[in-house]
Amino acid sequence: MKSILFYLLSCGLFSSNFFLAPTFQPQYLGALAQDTTMVELITLDKDFVIDVRYATKNNFTGQVLYDCDKVWLRKVVAMDLIAAHRKFKEKGYRIKIYDGYRPISVQWRLWKATPKKGYVSHPTKGMRMHNRGAAVDMTLIDPNSKELDMGTPYDFFGKEAHTTYTNLPAQVLANRKLLKEVMQSCGFVAISNEWWHFDYKKQKFNIVDTPMCK
Ligand SMILES: [Zn+2]
Repeated sequence: MKSILFYLLSCGLFSSNFFLAPTFQPQYLGALAQDTTMVELITLDKDFVIDVRYATKNNFTGQVLYDCDKVWLRKVVAMDLIAAHRKFKEKGYRIKIYDGYRPISVQWRLWKATPKKGYVSHPTKGMRMHNRGAAVDMTLIDPNSKELDMGTPYDFFGKEAHTTYTNLPAQVLANRKLLKEVMQSCGFVAISNEWWHFDYKKQKFNIVDTPMCK
């Protein structure tokens, strides 16, 4: 029940009249909105496809950076991502996750290995949304588990990956538009230079350093 209520609230699928029912308890929803515990995403929705590239050598560093391929997020972030996932599933797609919460130790290694400035936050500067459990790297897959064509691979460090770059086939632009519009409708915002990255903007969180492989 908790998750359903939060979903309805977070994605705005019901009018405010829904919450005027006699059983509405504002303090109850308020408590949910403050639930910032870190959760493993797959335990809440098993339909996500998890492909944590930094837990393999199949990433731009060529190194294994995580000890396990788990995706953790703040619970409120995870619940809105699940709401977005439901919308994508209604259209025949599922979300594939490349990365979620990222410990500071991994951020240092990534930052040092990044060939271009602006693609990975400095570990002590900037918003560092992955370190807050409030950002996700993702794409969409079709019913055959094939990734939709987004124009570039994940972690492509060039202008073709920018969300403002439009010199791309119409289908690629349509795929990116779908990704962005559904995510925005559920509280996430895109950034300018990575089509795969979305920040959660409804709530702010502290930077934490927490084990992912428990
Ligand atoms: Zn990212």
